[in-house]
Amino acid sequence: MADKLKQIAWSAIDNSAIGLQSLSEKIWLNPELCFEEHEAHDVLTRFLRDKGFEVDEQYTLKTAFRARAGADDGVNVAVICEYDALPNIGHACGHNLIAEAGCAAGIGIKAALDTSEIPIGRLTILGTPAEEDGGGKSLMIKNGCFDDVDIAMMVHPMPVEMPHALFVAIHQWVITYSGKASHAAAFPWEGVNALDAAIAAYNGISVLRQQMRPSWRVHGIISNGGTKPNIIPEKSELQYLLRAPTESELETLIEKARAIFLAAGQTTGCSVDIKDEDHCMNLVSNKTLLDLYTRNSLDLGVQFTPDHVPGIGNIHDIPLGSTDMGDVSYEVPSIHPVYSIGTHAFNHTREFTAAANTDFAHERTLVASKAIAGCAIDVLTDPEALKAVKDSFKLQMQQV
Ligand SMILES: [Zn+2]
Ligand SMILES: [Zn+2]
Repeated sequence: MADKLKQIAWSAIDNSAIGLQSLSEKIWLNPELCFEEHEAHDVLTRFLRDKGFEVDEQYTLKTAFRARAGADDGVNVAVICEYDALPNIGHACGHNLIAEAGCAAGIGIKAALDTSEIPIGRLTILGTPAEEDGGGKSLMIKNGCFDDVDIAMMVHPMPVEMPHALFVAIHQWVITYSGKASHAAAFPWEGVNALDAAIAAYNGISVLRQQMRPSWRVHGIISNGGTKPNIIPEKSELQYLLRAPTESELETLIEKARAIFLAAGQTTGCSVDIKDEDHCMNLVSNKTLLDLYTRNSLDLGVQFTPDHVPGIGNIHDIPLGSTDMGDVSYEVPSIHPVYSIGTHAFNHTREFTAAANTDFAHERTLVASKAIAGCAIDVLTDPEALKAVKDSFKLQMQQV
């Protein structure tokens, strides 16, 4: 039964290919930043309503949405859309394609549900804003949007093709040093230099970097280094991101970094304020869902990136970033495979922006969507598969 339903789902996706491409292009042409994705929200909800979904606009957040199909209860499979862009460089993470993929997979799964050969099952498409900044999914978890979800799946365009990639936990800080202003030529000894504290902290972190594990990352900017060269800076501000593959490793890194930021304040006589901003957990890809995704992808003719990439090494050891899907993966069994759109450029570059609206990118997006739809059908038609997914989830959560 599953094979027949997959053919129905995949045909439904192919039949909507033109509409899906134009949907994605509309979002690509009008890049909107976190929590400002009003156009994208409207375009997506209109599209899904036209396709027969029951749509909740502004679902707990102004630019979030939910679209549903299938029965009123039973196994609930969620597919995720993202659609926020980056400042100045547009859709350099290809979230227009993630929106397209979520809708495409949804159309396929709905077509399978509409055959009524699946006894009881349902589909939820969740439109999740603010992935790049703001943690939209984390807020939606707090708002209860995942409470009735059994599994959650999404795909992300990248320069590589892998069911599971390393997406690490992230913690964000804004660090402020406060000193004392003074005339930099006449009475410099009266001043307490907050910029010096920022520089000492920056250099301290650079020294720490040599002793960090290869998969840890710390990177930051000085967002305020003073106002004029003839005034001893009374305020400075740094923004830092700290990342590690697990929450406990991240905790260790946070403590090491905190000691450096505090010491830089003491060294220079400045007071220091370390403010916690966003935090996302690492991505725990559900092992059973990954197997299903891999099998469906191979059936669709997908070729995965080899483990060893020349010039990079083992691609599975390289953190490809962080995502608020990490938080979701601690709530429900989840996957977040990455798929290639035919560019060697990495995400967050202008080259990737260009690659995120080519015919080839749309073709690959539909293939990845079909793999997601295939996984959903596997789980919806086979209670044993769903049980295996839930068992893996339990086991993996004990190991994190
Ligand atoms: Zn990104
Ligand atoms: Zn992204």
